[in-house]
Amino acid sequence: MTIQATVDRNEPNPHIINKAARIIQAGGLVAFPTETVYGLGADALNAEAVKKIYVAKGRPSDKPLILHVSSIQQASGLVEMNDTARKLAQTFWPGPLTLVLPAKPCIPSITRGGLNTAGVRMPANVPALELIRASRTPLAAPSANISGRPSPKDAESVYRDMAGRIDMILDGGSTVIGIESTILDITNPERIIMLRLGAIGREEIESSIGMMIEISASMRGKSL
Ligand code: AMP
Ligand code: MG
Repeated sequence: MTIQATVDRNEPNPHIINKAARIIQAGGLVAFPTETVYGLGADALNAEAVKKIYVAKGRPSDKPLILHVSSIQQASGLVEMNDTARKLAQTFWPGPLTLVLPAKPCIPSITRGGLNTAGVRMPANVPALELIRASRTPLAAPSANISGRPSPKDAESVYRDMAGRIDMILDGGSTVIGIESTILDITNPERIIMLRLGAIGREEIESSIGMMIEISASMRGKSL
């Protein structure tokens, strides 16, 4: 059975957040709003819990998940931050920018899709941040849809795909952006590569760090 609970997008009820956090801590799955799309969250450091995300979505297990954090400090415990990463996080977090960096050993291989890097971001959504804080762990969270279907922008769409497959849906209303996060690989800060164009544009990033970024081969030809 999938529990559904509505939360205020500015002042989510702490009892509901704590209930969701207990599910996360017990290795369960909770869908939650972010500013981009709804995420399907599990404790990113619990391999068994993360495995359930891949099963619920029917997602190929070599496709890495983004880790959602509630502070830059929390991100520093997960990945090797460099000065450029810190600057980008200070400028764009909380917000729709995912930073791919060398992973620290605490991140299970399944969360990273077997890679030695990991993507981290801090979402600009109060219920999401409160859930991460209350869970006391980063949340691995892809979009809360069955693989291949559109990313959900409201809780009803999550329910349609995920009812019976996950433990809880936090309904925080429609997402304000509705587009995925922009993903930057800054493993090598001399050579920053855009892996996905999302809600934050290339020029905005380039002017913030004062250098050009490259576009990954898989993105070339797509409209920027
Ligand atoms: P989704 O959560 O479904 O929007 O997908 C997350 C996206 O982040 C996928 O396109 C992944 O390939 C990308 N991603 C997450 N972690 C990494 C990583 N370590 N290296 C490269 N891409 C990543
Ligand atoms: Mg997706």
